[in-house]
Amino acid sequence: MFRIGCHISASGGYLAMGRRIDALGGNTFAFFTRNPRGGAAKDVDPADVDAFLAFCKEKDIDRLVAHAPYTLNPCAEKESVRQFALTAFADDLRRMEYTPGQYYNFHPGSHVGQGLDVGIEKIAEVLNTVLFPDMTTTVLLETMAGKGSEVGGRFEQLRAIIDRVELKDKVGVCLDTCHVWDAGYDIVGDLDGVMTAFDKTVGLDRLKAVHLNNTKNDRGVAKDRHEKLPDGKLPLEAIQRIVTHPVLETLPFILETPNDEAGYAAEIALVRRLHG
Ligand code: FE
Ligand code: FE
Ligand code: ZN
Repeated sequence: MFRIGCHISASGGYLAMGRRIDALGGNTFAFFTRNPRGGAAKDVDPADVDAFLAFCKEKDIDRLVAHAPYTLNPCAEKESVRQFALTAFADDLRRMEYTPGQYYNFHPGSHVGQGLDVGIEKIAEVLNTVLFPDMTTTVLLETMAGKGSEVGGRFEQLRAIIDRVELKDKVGVCLDTCHVWDAGYDIVGDLDGVMTAFDKTVGLDRLKAVHLNNTKNDRGVAKDRHEKLPDGKLPLEAIQRIVTHPVLETLPFILETPNDEAGYAAEIALVRRLHG
């Protein structure tokens, strides 16, 4: 089953999200587990979750690719920021268990001058604090553009984090097409080569989801500016090769392009056409 969806608003709760993505023509989706700029999360309503799970079964919607707030920086130098990362991460993972077996995607973080090695150690330390043996969620590290002091712009950095995690079966990777391009990986001219590099470095068995975005920038500028699918630097033929690539096409594709709901519905239809 080909899975395409987009990032949607979490307002109104779980069933509202299910109805929203179904109306847009999607069968997978992403949402922020709490306000992207931080703050407390709403309590989960078990009746809403039950109605949502029944709706997903009926409509064949599968894989929530929940997104941690942007302010969650597991390798922050400031203790208060790192403490927020720990409490928000742990609380999100507890609430994710209301919807068992889904994905929770996060940005590894920015080391802000502490250096890559310290950043990697701190990220692994947070994971080793918040992951728990009987969790059913898989936590996904997102491939980053390498903007500023972001960790995760190179596959080797993701591998180094995963190497330090004790509960390795709880972690995977979400590949963001805008980010890897901005980080320098040539997914237009050599998609097979990039996937081979990922396999050798991280392992394709860890790849669980794709953020399908176009980009405003030339390759390698380390900027992270998403663009609508038809408008960016990645030609539609390259997008088509991505969504039909044998190792990628079985994964959930999530659009995070600058669109309103009508724009997302149009891009979901476009990706379905490209996939064929
Ligand atoms: Fe992200
Ligand atoms: Fe992303
Ligand atoms: Zn981005």
